[in-house]
Formats: sequence, structure tokens, C-alpha cells
Amino acid sequence: MSDLVVRWRDLMCGEVGLEQVGSRLALAGWVDRRRDHGGLVFVDLRDASGLCQLVLNPERAPEASADAHQIRNEFVLRAEGEVVQRAPENVNPQLPTGEVELQVDELAIVSPSIPLPFQLDEDGVDETLRLRYRWLDLRRPRMQHNLRLRADLISTIRREMEAAGFLDIQTPILFKPTPEGARDFIVPSRLQRGRFFALPQSPQILKQLLVIGGFDRYYQIAICFRDEDLRADRVQEITQLDVELAFPDQEYLCTLMERMCAAVWRECIGAEIETPFPRMTHADAQARYGSDKPDLRLGLEIEDATEATRGSEFGVFATAEAVRFIRVPQAFSRAELERLEAFAKEWGARGLAYLVFAEDGEVRSPIAKFLSESELELFRSEPGSTVLFGADEPAVVARVLGALRLHLGHQLGLVDEEAWRFVWITDFPMFEWDDDDERWQAVHHPFTRPAPGSEKLVATDPGAATAHAYDLVVNGIEIGGGSFRIHEQELQAQVFKALQLSDDEQRRKFGFLLDALAMGAPPHGGIAFGIERMLMALAREPNLRDMIAFPKNQAGVDPMSGAPSEVEEALLEELGIELRAQPE
Ligand code: ASP
Repeated sequence: MSDLVVRWRDLMCGEVGLEQVGSRLALAGWVDRRRDHGGLVFVDLRDASGLCQLVLNPERAPEASADAHQIRNEFVLRAEGEVVQRAPENVNPQLPTGEVELQVDELAIVSPSIPLPFQLDEDGVDETLRLRYRWLDLRRPRMQHNLRLRADLISTIRREMEAAGFLDIQTPILFKPTPEGARDFIVPSRLQRGRFFALPQSPQILKQLLVIGGFDRYYQIAICFRDEDLRADRVQEITQLDVELAFPDQEYLCTLMERMCAAVWRECIGAEIETPFPRMTHADAQARYGSDKPDLRLGLEIEDATEATRGSEFGVFATAEAVRFIRVPQAFSRAELERLEAFAKEWGARGLAYLVFAEDGEVRSPIAKFLSESELELFRSEPGSTVLFGADEPAVVARVLGALRLHLGHQLGLVDEEAWRFVWITDFPMFEWDDDDERWQAVHHPFTRPAPGSEKLVATDPGAATAHAYDLVVNGIEIGGGSFRIHEQELQAQVFKALQLSDDEQRRKFGFLLDALAMGAPPHGGIAFGIERMLMALAREPNLRDMIAFPKNQAGVDPMSGAPSEVEEALLEELGIELRAQPE
């Protein structure tokens, strides 16, 4: 091999097949596995396309075979030789290249590897260790699959959005706080000492300004930064398909997004999904599924008995603001019911009333004796089932029964794991009361338009105002959400006021938006989709970080580079920043 011009490979490992039998080929890649049979050495050589088996025979290629004894997993090799057909008993039907192997006569160890911190085929490797050596972790088939899926998803989205006439426009990363309900990441400015940029939680205001600026169909694959406490489905840097359009029409927007989802599901995983997606109001979702992101792959729908139990002799039912129940197709034992009660309490219930309809027709329940014939009739269920109740404030009942519904659905195998159940959730409330801060908060964000008819309520009865907002949910995962926006300066100021932003604060924080709204702002609206959330749904992956090449861990740290890290004192000085205490 010449050092200057190396013919590294003629084909990818995964492409070698019967057509190549008899020809001479070079392959290059990583050692996936080496089996040393004393004489013969077998190596599974892997590259991005797959695996091909190399055989080193000391009688045919003494030098290469001697070298082969030194190689270990994840060494990088170049191997040249003749493609031969395997004997029928050696064919590996699991492997696309399983009918052939490369009879190596020239072998080069291109790049060795020190002993690995974990084996690529090892299960259950600690996540921090995987992230610390992410370059190794990325070589595993699962991560290869996830990131290829991610690339397919993004290219499908781009194709669809561009076909619909949307223009990709980039917005800045250094900007001003955009309120999406999370904490901001801030970046100090050296040139304007004492001032800070915020990393965008989303391009929300900027996309509105683009539409006001005459770009009437905008999209972007945007990175958004949210300094949140982390969970399995939350990360600090998310990627979002961000969309905005002028003169929006809800049917057009929903159809466009449904078409985009159908294309993604078809191109990425070959699934045909049914459109149009059903729609459900937020109130309905809460009442029937106890969630604003209902998983419709399972039944166990929540039923209401508030009216029917108004005069109940069971005091808890008679006085609770809401009485609702689910019918579960299993007659639970006392021990199981105790566990379910503990579960319900974790979600805020004070107790868990139940009626067990045993197989023998008997009703087992401490509350049955308080219930009238007509109440019992309403709750009566198949023998071999249990009715579980929630009786409390509506929000508590929804939360508890919603959680029980999902828990039992999975535990009892009632979830149709093959299904794709999309649903639009509409008619969200505009505001929710924040007990800690004692003020209204925007449910979506402060630029969301009140639904037609709710405009006046913003000032008079904010709690009753409905937003022109919508979320898209699939299998219980919220993958997208958006709204129509306020395009009138006065209405926007009213919403800010309802959120207790003083005139001064309004000007300071959003003066530029208010100015823009006063200069010919067209009606507009849009939506954003979480790319990682879509991927989690598509790949049925429970961990969002596994859909990202280089994520931070749950403590918000990158175990690979060690970021975030300390900075030089001199840099802080230039920025005019003095740390109160040295970090521990
Ligand atoms: N900016 C919103 C978000 O990031 C989406 C939207 O209203 O378009 O959730």
C-alpha cells in the first residue's frame, strides 16, 4: 500500500454477496468480533453498512494470519482477498452477507484500540459510561439505527415543508428571553458588559416577526434551549420543527401537518397511518382520559358519576366536586387493591374506593352497602372486573384516574402496542392559576390568540378564556403544539396585563413585538414539533437522549467533554463577572 494513495476499499462490508464470488476485493472497517480457532481466524468486519466475515488461513496467508492473532475488538483493519462462497453448513442466514466470506491474504491493522471500557454487545451499560465514551456507544446498532432514523425524519420533513412552499429561515441563537415556560440559559456579552443574551427557548417571537416581515410561510429545524430539570423525556437542548404562516386556516394547517406525519411514518418506518386525525377538546381529554395527552391505544375510559352520586349515602361521593370511575377487566385481590391505593395516593388521591365484581357474581367492597340500587346499577360491570373511583376536585380526579388508567393498561397488557393513535387536542384554556406566584400563567405562551368569543374574557374572567391552540399527540406522547397568534397590539397588551406584566415591563421585554404589531401585522399562526419526541414515538424508545448524538446526562452534564466547565479568571474579568463562591 502506498502511503499517498490508499485504495481503502472496493465495497462496503454489508454489500458483499454471491455476485462478488471469485473477485478480489478490499474491505475496511472495525473488528466486530474475532474468533481464533488456533489455526483459522475468523473476523466479523463491520462498517456503516453491515458485517462481512473475514477468514485468515495460516496455510494460504501466513503473514496476515500471524497479524490476525494480535487484533482485538474495535481495531480498524483493511483486508484484501478473494470473495468465496461458504459451504452450505457454514451459511449464516441471520447475516445479509452470510453466504460468502473474504479469504484474506493481505491484512493491515490501520488503527488499534486500547481495551474497551465496555463491549459493544453488552446490555445494560450504565448511561453515564455510555455517554463518557459516546464514540463507542454510537457504533452500536441501536444508536446507528436511531441517528439514521433521525436523519430520515429531518429530510422527510424538509421535503414536505418545501413542497408546500415553506421557506427555511434561520433565526439567531443569541437573542432575548422568549417565554415558553422554562428557565433561560443566558450568555454574557463582552462588548456590552453587564448585559446578557438568552438562548431561545423557541424562535417564537422571531417566527412571528418573519411573517410580519412578509415571509408568509416559514419553517426551520431549530434548536431550542430550555433550562429544565431533566427527566427521561426532557433535555435542555431540543430540536424542533418550527412553522409559521400568514392568514392561517386551521383546516389547512392540520391537513398539512397530518400529511407531514403520514410522510414521516411511511418513509421512516414504512407505516401507513390514517388521516385525518381525530380531534378532542382539552376538557374532553381531561374528563375521559385524565390527561391532555391521552394514549388512545388502550380503552379504560373514565366515566362520570358526579350527578348520579349527588344524593349518595356514601358521603365522599355526595360531597366531592367530581366523582368519576374506570372499569378494569380484572377482579383485584385485596393485596392488589392496597398496592393500587398506594399508587393512587402517590398521584394525590386521599384514598381509592372500589367495587370488585367477582367471577362468582358477588360484589366485594366496603362502600357497596352505602350505594343505592340505581348507583350500583350504573357501576355494575362484567363478573371478573373492578370499578375504581376518583372523588375529589376535578383536576385531582383526572390526574389520579389518568395515571391509574395508564398503569393498569400496561400492567394488564391492554395496550395495542402495534397501533399509531394520533389525536389533536383543541380548545385549551388560555390561562392557569399559579398558586405559588398567585397570578395567571399562559398555558401555551403569551402570544397565543384567545379563541373567537374569548377575547373579552381576557380582561374580565381570564380563567374562563379558551385559547386558539392545539397539540398533536400520538400514543400518549405530545409531539407538537401551536396556536393562532395575537396580531393586534391592543389585545396583546391586554394578555400581557392579565399576566401581570406592567406597561414598563411590557415595553422592556416585548416592546419590539408590540411595535411590529402596530405596523401592519397579518393574522398568523403556527406550530412546532419536537423532533426528539417524534423520534421516541417512531422508534418506540423510552429515552429521549438515545435519539441525540451527544446529549447531556440527567444532571445536565456532558460526561464526555466534562461541559459545563469552569472558565479562566481573565475571561470572567473581561465580562465583568465575579463569582460569589467558587464552585465545589
Ligand atoms: N413556540 C411554541 C413551542 O415551542 C410552539 C408554537 O406556538 O408554535 O412550544
